[in-house]
Amino acid sequence: MPQTVRGVVARAQGAPVEVTDIVIPDPGPGEVVVAIAACGVCHTDLHYREGGINDEFPFLLGHEAAGTVESVGPGVESVAPGDFVVLNWRAVCGQCRACKRGRPQYCFDTFNAAQKMTLTDGTELSPALGIGAFADKTLVHAGQCTKVDPNTDPAVAGLLGCGVMAGLGAAINTGGVDRTDSVAVIGCGGVGDAAIAGARLVGAHTIIAVDRDARKLDWATELGATHTINSAEVDAVEAIQEITGGFGADVVIDAVGRPETWKQAFYARDLAGTVVLVGVPTPDMTLEMPLIDFFSRGGSLKSSWYGDCLPERDFPVLIDLYRQGRLPLEKFVTERIGLGDVEKAFETMHRGEVLRSVVVL
Ligand SMILES: [Zn+2]
Ligand SMILES: [Zn+2]
Repeated sequence: MPQTVRGVVARAQGAPVEVTDIVIPDPGPGEVVVAIAACGVCHTDLHYREGGINDEFPFLLGHEAAGTVESVGPGVESVAPGDFVVLNWRAVCGQCRACKRGRPQYCFDTFNAAQKMTLTDGTELSPALGIGAFADKTLVHAGQCTKVDPNTDPAVAGLLGCGVMAGLGAAINTGGVDRTDSVAVIGCGGVGDAAIAGARLVGAHTIIAVDRDARKLDWATELGATHTINSAEVDAVEAIQEITGGFGADVVIDAVGRPETWKQAFYARDLAGTVVLVGVPTPDMTLEMPLIDFFSRGGSLKSSWYGDCLPERDFPVLIDLYRQGRLPLEKFVTERIGLGDVEKAFETMHRGEVLRSVVVL
């Protein structure tokens, strides 16, 4: 029997989101219904509401979530009712040209549920990133469910589903940071601070946090930064060079995603160093730079989608490291809110006052 539950829906561009009844079908082949326990508020949810992703309104928002499998459809063997799972938006297909050449993090055909969730009048919903987890329950593909230790606080576990994984992975997977590296991170919100936590986890000897907001630099220090630079007061490139013996950092991560910050990242690295872009630019942004600088400085210019993560490989390990006290994921949960507080949380997030607001159900 389809069930009617509460969900947070964005009906039109820029209109405030609302809690309304949504209909969840029974899981079909390969599908799973998950009872959501917690879901973090991410900038991408706000981008959906503002029409910045596409115009397939109404959207069912929320995508950084953990919960318990309630029921599974025919053919599902990877999870069973009662399993505690983190939801992901990279259920790799194993068959496309990226998967077949051993680069599943670029999978071109990731799985989502085939059936649609709807409003009570039958209008089909577009779930954010194929998840839609600001809701009592949601319908996803089985591959979007990654089992992790069930004794984990869902508000913490769910964060691995998007932004925190993006930041951790930008350092660990894309940047390939290790203890021999100096690392600088530009922008110390949730994603940037996760990159700092990732650099610390793998032992980078120098971790430089750059932001214009002193409060965010305090967060960065708590998460493992060894040095901080307030770029409202000093030149970030010069300051990074000064801390690194005049050379620049081995890996510089741009967690903002603007031409100005990317240029800072580019010029703040050591010769042949690595730039990782994990902040998401908007389509109107362009970059103008001397081409000779790309040639003469060498190195590696990368972008990091979802931290180049593979959920099955990365989520359980990161949760275990958290439970051992080696990865302070709990510090990313700034506040716990209700389903009706998402609109207010967008404002708090926009003002940069939180690392993460997490809806707890
Ligand atoms: Zn694939
Ligand atoms: Zn997100």
